[in-house]
Amino acid sequence: MTLSILKKGNPILIEGAKIIVENPKSDEIKRLISDMKETMEKNDGVGLAANQVGQQFRLFVLGYEKIFKVFINPKIKKYSSGQVEVEEGCLSVPGIFGIVKRPEKVLIEALNENGNKVEYWAEGLEARIIQHEIDHLNGILFVDRAKNLFTFEQK
Ligand code: ZN
Repeated sequence: MTLSILKKGNPILIEGAKIIVENPKSDEIKRLISDMKETMEKNDGVGLAANQVGQQFRLFVLGYEKIFKVFINPKIKKYSSGQVEVEEGCLSVPGIFGIVKRPEKVLIEALNENGNKVEYWAEGLEARIIQHEIDHLNGILFVDRAKNLFTFEQK
């Protein structure tokens, strides 16, 4: 089922997601992940956090090219010292883009959709999405970090 995405100004985006997922394999969480995947793909997004669809569980999904991943109760354990500036946008802030400086690599720890612990250094686009989505779970939008915001009219 496609869910509606909350837009900037909705308090749930600022409150963040406070609920630790106790059972990653519960029907409720499985359904939420499936709906979030569908919603992200339908909106041509590369990442989606649970509180963007009004759920306050600490989880997000990520997808681009042939990759699809689920991060449950995610934590960034270390950041690289190297930082990069990349243009970002967000499904909750449609039509607005901006340059955000972030660490190039992050050591991510999370549970995957099978409930198994994963921990590895993510880099490139994946590291960028992970940081953007964890910001969502913590109530932060990319426009809070961006410089040179600009609008782009979508056809
Ligand atoms: Zn976003």
